[in-house]
Amino acid sequence: MQKEILIIGAGQCGLATARFLQKKNKDFLILEKYNHIGDNWRKRYHSLRLFTPTTYSSLPDLPLEILQNARPTKDQIADYFERYAHHFELPVALRHEVTSITKSGQVFTVVTSQGTFTADEVVIASGFCERPQFPDWAAHLGVPHIHSMDYKNPISIKGNKVLVVGAGNSAAQIAAELVNHFEVHWSTRRKPKFFPLYLFGKNVLVLADKLGKLDKPISEKKLKRGEPIFRYGDLTTQLKKAKKKKDVVKAEGKTLTFESGEAETYDFILFATGFKPNFDFIQITGLVCKNFFNFFVWYFFYRCFCYFIKCSLFSIKIYKSI
Ligand SMILES: Cc1cc2nc3c(=O)[nH]c(=O)nc-3n(C[C@H](O)[C@H](O)[C@H](O)COP(=O)(O)OP(=O)(O)OC[C@H]3O[C@@H](n4cnc5c(N)ncnc54)[C@H](O)[C@@H]3O)c2cc1C
Repeated sequence: MQKEILIIGAGQCGLATARFLQKKNKDFLILEKYNHIGDNWRKRYHSLRLFTPTTYSSLPDLPLEILQNARPTKDQIADYFERYAHHFELPVALRHEVTSITKSGQVFTVVTSQGTFTADEVVIASGFCERPQFPDWAAHLGVPHIHSMDYKNPISIKGNKVLVVGAGNSAAQIAAELVNHFEVHWSTRRKPKFFPLYLFGKNVLVLADKLGKLDKPISEKKLKRGEPIFRYGDLTTQLKKAKKKKDVVKAEGKTLTFESGEAETYDFILFATGFKPNFDFIQITGLVCKNFFNFFVWYFFYRCFCYFIKCSLFSIKIYKSI
């Protein structure tokens, strides 16, 4: 099938791009690997709520209709994305996983699990949470373990003594949930940095936006410092029940050795150690996207949902410039 534009991924970037192209009367199609729009959100852990309040989680032209300052649950956002596509009758080919994109002359060939498409332009909106990231020592581990992308609720965990690894928000939220059920140790490479999610009764993203901070790219210095853990509700009280541990330097079977020299054995390890994007399907010689990583980190922290269109245009620009 020939299309003017193919969009890879029906997440928020893909949908917002689609709406933008629809208004320009473009001939496009979204290719999505899952059975339903929003499944990438639905499969995340059950207690997950967005940091971004409703106003910052809405896509163009159809606001997410829940309380303005509420934080949507993962299922609310998934259902909203699905409704958004239906409302605007956006053309989406579900269960079409893109396995390769090549380019010959001015034509892109996109191979999917259900057939081949050609297009003049391709927008990569396949996200950056596709591949779980593990520390090197995980390769030598003889303890049952999962990545946060497979964690659902405390039933996902086996045994009594659990190590949660990671210094980000998922690690903190999951550890805080597990302390009610297990002996939890929490290993972080750097000291966790907390930042209140609400200041003067307002979500910090709303305040940052009012101060014009959301439009500024994040500095290299801030990037190196890593993401803050957003503090809300009883998160920090719960986390006090977890035993803090330094970075793991070695794993041998069931025994882990920490930077401090201490060694401990665990029944189960939960890695909340982040994700890597998966762009392996882009098989175009000479395509170098050096700035993808910085761009994604910046966009995750500073613009979140309201940056979709610019993000998509960025992708279009890259492909147009090939
Ligand atoms: C635990 C967690 C909590 C988060 N909380 C927040 C939050 O509170 N606020 C916030 O703004 N952001 C949050 N994020 C980040 C947010 O998920 C990303 O910013 C956002 O998903 C990126 O949108 P996207 O459209 O680029 O990609 P995604 O939402 O990842 O969408 C990509 C789409 O592409 C599809 N796809 C991937 N590969 C292929 C392929 N080969 N073929 C076909 N389809 C493909 C996927 O199935 C998916 O539907 C969170 C992320 C995680 C992991």
